[in-house]
Amino acid sequence: MTTLLESYAKVAGEDVIDHLRQLSVPLKGMKVLHINSTRIGGGVAEILTKLVPLQQELGLDVKWEVILGRSDFYQCTKYFHNALQGSHVEIPQNLLKVYEQTNNDFADEFREMLEEADFVFIHDPQPAAVLKFCPNRKGRWIWRCHIDGSHPNRQVWKYLRDFVSEYDASIFSLAVFSQALSHPQYLIPPSIDPLSDKNKSISAKEVRAVFPDFDLDPDRPIILQVSRFDKFKDPIGVIQSYKLTKRFIPTLQLVLAGGEATDDPEGEAVLKEVRGAASGDPDIHVLLLPADAHTTINALQRASDIVLQKSIKEGFGLTVTEAMWKSKPVIGGNTGGIRLQVIDHHTGFLVNTPEGAALRIRYLLHHRNKLKEMGKKARDFVRENFLLTRQLREHLTLMVGLIHGAEDRIVLG
Ligand code: UDP
Repeated sequence: MTTLLESYAKVAGEDVIDHLRQLSVPLKGMKVLHINSTRIGGGVAEILTKLVPLQQELGLDVKWEVILGRSDFYQCTKYFHNALQGSHVEIPQNLLKVYEQTNNDFADEFREMLEEADFVFIHDPQPAAVLKFCPNRKGRWIWRCHIDGSHPNRQVWKYLRDFVSEYDASIFSLAVFSQALSHPQYLIPPSIDPLSDKNKSISAKEVRAVFPDFDLDPDRPIILQVSRFDKFKDPIGVIQSYKLTKRFIPTLQLVLAGGEATDDPEGEAVLKEVRGAASGDPDIHVLLLPADAHTTINALQRASDIVLQKSIKEGFGLTVTEAMWKSKPVIGGNTGGIRLQVIDHHTGFLVNTPEGAALRIRYLLHHRNKLKEMGKKARDFVRENFLLTRQLREHLTLMVGLIHGAEDRIVLG
């Protein structure tokens, strides 16, 4: 039977898998715990879904737990998210109390596991305070920030920093997101799983199925943005870009595909606004997809001519990587992790305004050979930089590095 790791050798190369096996030797049997705030919806859940079984297959004793709370907990953590991405927010004291209490309750529930683990990876601010309630922890704790925290709201960051500074290390996706912290900071961009239902190659028949399913015309151009309904993803800006382009290319169709993340309380209001802006135009398709609609998203990305990710803030943007892997040029907001992936004029275009996006959409739809060429470069760029095996290697390296501290020389296996 082919193991999970062996199946990755076909995409990433045998040597990459051998390297992973070698790196994992000193980590065999170690207890690793990942904690985030949702099992489905959003990029973090997407990554952990595959990172965890692969680490397990390499012989690490890995568990993934989720911190759950009442609606006021998510309200508070959404404030954190917005504040880390630069919004001015005043968080009421009672919500901060709920936040700390929820972290405290989680620590009580999982105390043994938390205190015994060799490595605890805490993802994002939601469970960041758990460490404060685990004074007897034995292992190394790493705070993994997936958010664009390049210009955080100072007051909120100051509050969170008190928790984060107690960690042994932190991980950011980009150098500009790092913060003044006294522990070592590591840069590890996220990645996609090329073999998941979301990204694996699918038959032309499966791709074609999305046309009748969503009332799309296969003979007319389609632009797509896949995102949670979140203001930082700028869905309204996408509609503006579409409307500006539509004046010149009347056959254009727009798909805005989103879903609900259980830890995002603002989605409904943004969706309402989007529906308002889209109303009256039958060529704008606003799709609310179930959380497990991976094959549908895969097919939509393949069925589209161009993929947009017009975010105004973006920690990384897995949707960008996913589209690039499907050989689509991406027109992306000139921000955060999108800049790491969209190499302007090569793998796509970086834009700052709806007008800029509209200009690039027109250009690509009128220069099909360029569109194809950029799409090919996009796929190659992802193969080299953003596949799961690279992220796994960096996680293993980080753990080996933390075990050995400041030793000059580390001998593996
Ligand atoms: N996603 C999904 N359904 C949706 C919207 C998004 O499955 O309706 C997936 C998307 O394909 C990607 C992840 O959720 O894998 C979003 O990650 P990204 O880094 O783009 O954004 P985040 O939501 O983490 O801010």
